[in-house]
Amino acid sequence: MNTFEKKIAVLSGKGGTGKTAFSVNLALILEKQGYVPLLADLDVEEPNVHLFFKESFGTEEPVSLLFPSWNKDACNFCGLCASNCRFHSLAVFKDDFLFFQELCHSCGRCAAKCPHKALSEKPLQIGVLRKGNYGTLSLYEGRLDEGKTQTSSMIREIKKQLPQTGLQIWDGPPGTSCPSLEAVKGADLIVLITEPTPFGFHDFKLTVEALKPFGIQTKVVINKWVENSLEIETYCEKNNLTVLGKIPFSKQAAEAYSSGKTFWEFSDMRESFLDMIEQIMEERE
Ligand code: SF4
Ligand code: SF4
Repeated sequence: MNTFEKKIAVLSGKGGTGKTAFSVNLALILEKQGYVPLLADLDVEEPNVHLFFKESFGTEEPVSLLFPSWNKDACNFCGLCASNCRFHSLAVFKDDFLFFQELCHSCGRCAAKCPHKALSEKPLQIGVLRKGNYGTLSLYEGRLDEGKTQTSSMIREIKKQLPQTGLQIWDGPPGTSCPSLEAVKGADLIVLITEPTPFGFHDFKLTVEALKPFGIQTKVVINKWVENSLEIETYCEKNNLTVLGKIPFSKQAAEAYSSGKTFWEFSDMRESFLDMIEQIMEERE
């Protein structure tokens, strides 16, 4: 059994780039190589890692956040809670109080500032955490309840439930919004998946810029690679980004992905992943 410590966040500038296919296949091939990886689906609005592991999720537990709960009898409508809420989630009138849960970030500031203890904090479910196993691969999936807006908070809560150590792959949400950036916090390595299309390249560049302030080592995988993908490679070279691997454009791969199969059975794909794993593991020293 290979023990290895690394938290790898997998991101892409846009959806449909092959981020989840990469995460799933990386995890499975690591498992076949004798590692004990963990794969966490942090794309909590639309988790789809489970499509590859249909029978493997065994447990489900609620994920809750603390939200303010108002006691009208104790309130004198002073408005201090609303003026201290940075997210404009509260509105206080001379004889009324409104709470907009979809804007609330569960920071607890309003309850702490209320001089009359008219606000307390109550847990409310925002989603579920599902766990499972596939061989020695541990699976975690965050799933935000329909209609809930606390995507970044949900990702934060799921990450709190992950073990502190080990070899972990975090499949983050696509794009450059707050949830994607939340997903990379605490990672040792970001693997950025891109594809050689105009939209793919455009969103890839935006993501590279958005990730710079984090200062986390970032490597690039060019998915659906074809011979003329030079624009991305030149950009990577200019920006000191290592291209970890190129996954060739392949009809077989697309068919495998759409039917929930893994890339292990295709020798060229398997070789690409084994080469990338070797590069990731080389950094152990
Ligand atoms: S701070 Fe407390 S007392 Fe003042 S309006 Fe808010 S809930 Fe009411
Ligand atoms: S918990 Fe924070 S974000 Fe939510 S209403 Fe109170 S102050 Fe605003």
